[in-house]
Amino acid sequence: MARLSELDPSVHAAMAAEFVRQRDELELIASENYTSQAVMRAMGSVLTNKYAEGLPGRRYYGGCEHVDEVERIARDRARSLFGAVGVNVQPHSGAQANAAMYLATCKAGDTIMGLDLTHGGHLTHGSPVNSSGKLYHAVHYQLDEQTGRIDLDRVRDLARKHQPRLIISGYSAYPRAIDFAGFGEIAAEVGALHVADISHIAGLVAAGLHDSPVPHCAFVTTTTHKTLRGPRGGLIMANREWANAMNKAVFPGTQGGPLMHVIAAKAVAFGEALQPSFRAYAAQVVANAKAMAERLVERGFHLVSGGTDNHLLLIDLQELCSGSEAEEALGRAGITVNKNTVPGEKRGAFVTSGVRIGTPAMTTRGMKTDHARQVADWIADAIHARDDAERLASIRAQVVELCRSLPVYPESEPA
Ligand SMILES: *Cc1c(COP(=O)(O)O)cnc(C)c1O
Repeated sequence: MARLSELDPSVHAAMAAEFVRQRDELELIASENYTSQAVMRAMGSVLTNKYAEGLPGRRYYGGCEHVDEVERIARDRARSLFGAVGVNVQPHSGAQANAAMYLATCKAGDTIMGLDLTHGGHLTHGSPVNSSGKLYHAVHYQLDEQTGRIDLDRVRDLARKHQPRLIISGYSAYPRAIDFAGFGEIAAEVGALHVADISHIAGLVAAGLHDSPVPHCAFVTTTTHKTLRGPRGGLIMANREWANAMNKAVFPGTQGGPLMHVIAAKAVAFGEALQPSFRAYAAQVVANAKAMAERLVERGFHLVSGGTDNHLLLIDLQELCSGSEAEEALGRAGITVNKNTVPGEKRGAFVTSGVRIGTPAMTTRGMKTDHARQVADWIADAIHARDDAERLASIRAQVVELCRSLPVYPESEPA
C-alpha cells in the first residue's frame, strides 16, 4: 500500500509533527503513556471495518467469527489481570465505562458520592457539567486539607448523612494509595454500592503494586490507556450479581457497535501486562515518582500529601507562581505537564496553584531513578527561571538530548 505521506500529505504532515513532538519532548502528563508498536498495529487494522453489536457468540451481525475470537481473548486476559467475574471490553473510553455503570445501577435523581473535582476527582463523578451531575444527585467528599489525604471518617459521615446509592472511589489526581476495603465497609454500612474507578492506577493494580478493588466493589471501571499502557479506551468489570446488567448497560444502553480494532489492541496490551516485564515496568514507574518527589522536596517544593505512593505527584506552588505559569514555563523547557487544582485552591480552576506530574510515559521510554532526579532538577530550575527565556531554552536543549538518547519508537517513523 502507498504511504499516507503520498495518499494524504496534509494529514500526514500533522501526524509526522506529532511524532516528532512525542519523540523529542518529555511527556509528564500523568494520564498519558506510549503504547507498544504491537498495540498500534492491532489498532490500525481491517477490524475497524466490522460491525459486531452484541457479545461473542450472540451478535446482531453475520461474519463475526473472527472478531468473536479477538473479543474472547481480550476478556480472558482482562479476567486474568484483574480477577473480576464480569468483564466487558467494549466501552469506548473511561467516561463511557462510567456512563454504563451509572445506567446499570442508578435511576435519574439517585444520589451518587465521589471525590470533589478540585480535590482530584473526575468530571464523570458527578460534575454539574457532565451527564453524571445532570442525571444524578451528586454529593462530594473532600480531602483533609492538612494532610492532603482521604479521611475515611469524613467519607463515612457524608455517606450516613446522604445515604447515597453509589460511593465512588478512584481519582484523577491523588498521589496516595486508596483503601478500597475501607470504602467497601462504608458502602456496606449505609447500603450503598461501592464502585472503584481505577482509570489512573489500573496498571499498578494489574501489576500487584496497589491493592485490588475487585473484592470490595460491585463495579470497577477503568481506562486502558493510562498506566495500563494500552490503546485509548475503557473497560468495565462487575461482580457476579451485576455482570448481566453491566453488559446490557454498555450495549444497547449507552453504545452501538464496539470498536473491534481497539478491542484487538486492548487484547494485545492485556497480554503485555500479563508478562513479568510489565511488573518491572510498573515498579519502575513508582520508583521514579518517589525519586522525583524526594528531589522536589529537597529543592524546597511543597507536594500535596508530602509525597507519593503511585505514579503521580502534585506540586502545590503556593505563593511562588500559578499552575498555568508553571505549565507554560515547563512547556518552553520541553517538559509537558498539566496545571491542576490543589486542596483549598484559591486561584480557580483555569489558573490553579498546582501542577500534576506523572512518570508512566517517561518510564516507558526507559528512564530510571537517576533520570527522574535530573528531571526534577530541570522542573525546579524551569519554574524558578520562568521569566528567563535563555535559561528555559538551555534546559530545553538538555531535555531534547536526553529524549533523543531514549527514543520511544526506535525503528519506525509514521507511515
Ligand atoms: C481519565 C479518567 C476518566 C475518563 O477517561 P476518558 O477515556 O478520558 O473518558 C474517568 N475517570 C477517571 C478517574 C480518570 O482519571
